[in-house]
Amino acid sequence: MGSDQLAQPVTILKGVGAALAEKLAKLHISTVEDLLFHLPLRYQDRTRITPMGAIRRGDEVVVVGQVALADVTKGRRRALIVRLGDGTGSITLRFFHFNMTQKNQFRKGALVRCYGEARPGASGLELYHPEYSLVSQDQTVSVDDHLTPIYPLTEGLTQNRLRQLIQLALAELQKTEVVDWLPKSLFPNLPSLKESLQLLHEPPPDAPIDELTRYKHPSQHRLIMEELIAQQLSLLKLRQQHKHHQAPVFKATGQLGQQMLARLPFPLTGAQSRVIGEITQDIQQPSPMLRLVQGDVGAGKTLVAAIAALQAIEAGYQVAVMAPTEILAEQHYSNFRQWFTPLGLDVAWMAGKLKGKARQAQLERIAAGAPMVVGTHALFQESVEFNKLGLIIVDEQHRFGVHQRLSLREKGQQGDLYPHQLIMTATPIPRTLAMSAYADLDTSVIDELPPGRTPIETVALPDSRRDEIVERIATACYQGKQAYWVCTLIEDSEALQCQAAETTFEDLSVRLKGLNIGLIHGRMKAQEKAEIMARFKANELQLLVATTVIEVGVDVPNATLMVIENPERLGLSQLHQLRGRVGRGDQQSYCVLLYHSPLSRNGKARVAVMRDTQDGFQIAEKDLELRGPGEVLGTRQTGLAQMKIADLVRDQYLLDEVNIAANQLLRHYPHHLPPLVDRWLGSADQYAQV
Ligand code: ADP
Ligand code: MG
Repeated sequence: MGSDQLAQPVTILKGVGAALAEKLAKLHISTVEDLLFHLPLRYQDRTRITPMGAIRRGDEVVVVGQVALADVTKGRRRALIVRLGDGTGSITLRFFHFNMTQKNQFRKGALVRCYGEARPGASGLELYHPEYSLVSQDQTVSVDDHLTPIYPLTEGLTQNRLRQLIQLALAELQKTEVVDWLPKSLFPNLPSLKESLQLLHEPPPDAPIDELTRYKHPSQHRLIMEELIAQQLSLLKLRQQHKHHQAPVFKATGQLGQQMLARLPFPLTGAQSRVIGEITQDIQQPSPMLRLVQGDVGAGKTLVAAIAALQAIEAGYQVAVMAPTEILAEQHYSNFRQWFTPLGLDVAWMAGKLKGKARQAQLERIAAGAPMVVGTHALFQESVEFNKLGLIIVDEQHRFGVHQRLSLREKGQQGDLYPHQLIMTATPIPRTLAMSAYADLDTSVIDELPPGRTPIETVALPDSRRDEIVERIATACYQGKQAYWVCTLIEDSEALQCQAAETTFEDLSVRLKGLNIGLIHGRMKAQEKAEIMARFKANELQLLVATTVIEVGVDVPNATLMVIENPERLGLSQLHQLRGRVGRGDQQSYCVLLYHSPLSRNGKARVAVMRDTQDGFQIAEKDLELRGPGEVLGTRQTGLAQMKIADLVRDQYLLDEVNIAANQLLRHYPHHLPPLVDRWLGSADQYAQV
């Protein structure tokens, strides 16, 4: 905050030792300032006593009344029941865990103050396990003088302890001059930062609690704006820095590209040509391209990448294509070889599993300047030395975060020159994220599919109808079609997922004796996977049982049926990717979502979205709505998931305003940027260092 006092470690506060500091660290709190930015999730109103006659169900209330009766019920579940009355009405306290000392406290006539949520129960409105205290007759009943904040906690830290600490931090705040990096001239209506923090930690009794609950209070509005602006600025800064670097200028005639296109059995779509044009403009500039190409599954991104690559190659530079999985990388390797070998261009290969002599051989080819290099992220390990890298192409970028994007750029640096970077994703980036998480990129959209595709028909069925589906597969396969059966499981257990696929494979092998069935999963050797894929492609296998490893890139036009087990476990965009493996030819294709019933409400909503739309953008928007940005981007690496107060989905209505404000700050108050970004992103802002 521009003040040394607040930047001090929490241990300067009275009573905070190493042990407590460690607990706080789990909440990402290490300084006094961090404490101040640890904002309440919600509030309770303990500033007034509610007459019992006025309580409605769902209210969280403070009540004070006299014990009319205290009894232990013996029914289905033993409970201590205490009936209180205050002259306006009565309410029942219900405790399932209690001891006799506790029961005996509730003598008839004793005065009790309690706080809890009123819920309908066996005897009218009840408070379950309320917080309570006995009030002695000569005592006046006290209430709080501000709303009670409820903070996110961590193990071993109570609300009360955290509240005390924040009180200490507020005392420091009051002693400090706080600089407002959002200048009054640009934001005349926003309360100051100091006022805002004070209010949010200690709202006065008359603060509008539902405005606060909806994050629409002016103090929240101010902080949300400030945080979103800081996020935006850090990305814009990143972009500016990037544009400052030098990059090779590709002065290509496009001849190689023409040669390649001449060999293809189809022309480019209009959208492909347009996007190639946008890329071409970029790579003829002396500053590095940073462009995101979005295109739905099957839109033909690989071809766009290939034409871009040929321009770099023609100008005498090397190109690296990186894919997130080995299967996808292999697919690219085979595509690029098929396209480039006739042009006399060497294509090299690199993956983590490549070992020994084979690896050495590839490393040498890369170092010697093989024009095209395809691989997984192993491409950017230290042992890989490029000869003259001019363009990096990253496929399915949504799996990589901002920071990986940066490290890639570093790896490719050659002297003063930075390579151009092209990023391709089939997961459309919802507008909200495009404006925030991806604000450092230019974007192009391939908004047209190659002609002759037929829409996929999607049905959702409960897994009780599995037998029917197995028969349907048999019928389709006997008619010469091919099918996928995709097994999913909770994402982080690859082992379990493979096991599920193995079990399904065995089961289907028994039930579909006449068919050739293959199995493919992430734990198989690259060679094995490649063989299985090749056999499926050649129609030697009619049914392929797979895990989500086939999610991206796999291209077998004769496969027209896909069964996805437990689709409710996957994100919508991921399902959309999977489903995109069928519908690649001119025949009608089907996707069966075989869900485990009963579905939750959210599950039903998601299945319905899949059934009703095939528009990747619409699906991504829904996904964001149903799961939030952290999940949609596949990782928490974006930093977005850890925002202190803003929420991209809830606050998206502010993004236009944020954009304008960020640009004004950039133009008129450049010296405010570093402290502003530092305040909100702190050490998470690695942009400054690159
Ligand atoms: P994605 O955008 O999902 O990566 P691909 O690049 O894998 O899509 O292309 C999907 C399929 O469409 C491939 O078989 C590819 O050869 C084909 N394809 C690409 N561009 C065209 C085009 N202009 N006309 C017809 N088919 C095309
Ligand atoms: Mg692709």
